[in-house]
Amino acid sequence: MAYISSTLREYEESTYLCNRCCFCHSACTILRQMNMEETSGPRGKMPLVYGLIRGDIKLSAFIVDKLYLCTTCRHCYVECPAGLEVEKVVEAFRHELIKAGLAPLEAHKVISFNIDNHNNPFGESVLDRVSG
Ligand code: SF4
Ligand code: SF4
Repeated sequence: MAYISSTLREYEESTYLCNRCCFCHSACTILRQMNMEETSGPRGKMPLVYGLIRGDIKLSAFIVDKLYLCTTCRHCYVECPAGLEVEKVVEAFRHELIKAGLAPLEAHKVISFNIDNHNNPFGESVLDRVSG
């Protein structure tokens, strides 16, 4: 698969080494926000990326959504007995998307535009923000 390069392949072993223990679940605010839906949390992301690296699954909008559901806060690493750095896997995946021209996502382009043109991510008038 063209979009998988050495950047992401570096994580083939660590994504395989996730032992599904679930200790990271209590750490992840995203997982709680998503009503504990498995692929929104760190334990669910690891096999998704492993499957991509191995070519067992294809890139899809579903997988992109799940890999963007991460603040890269690194809290799951603190709880992980295997010392797996999920946020680095997530960042490597996003890096691959950008290299392949599949990111930034539309929502991120809007934020970038707003910062460039309005000096804030919300697109609000600078004068309104100062006077408000
Ligand atoms: S780094 Fe991502 S997956 Fe890990 S706890 Fe933070 S939000 Fe959840
Ligand atoms: S704590 Fe670590 S090894 Fe356990 S499920 Fe989470 S990422 Fe996998």
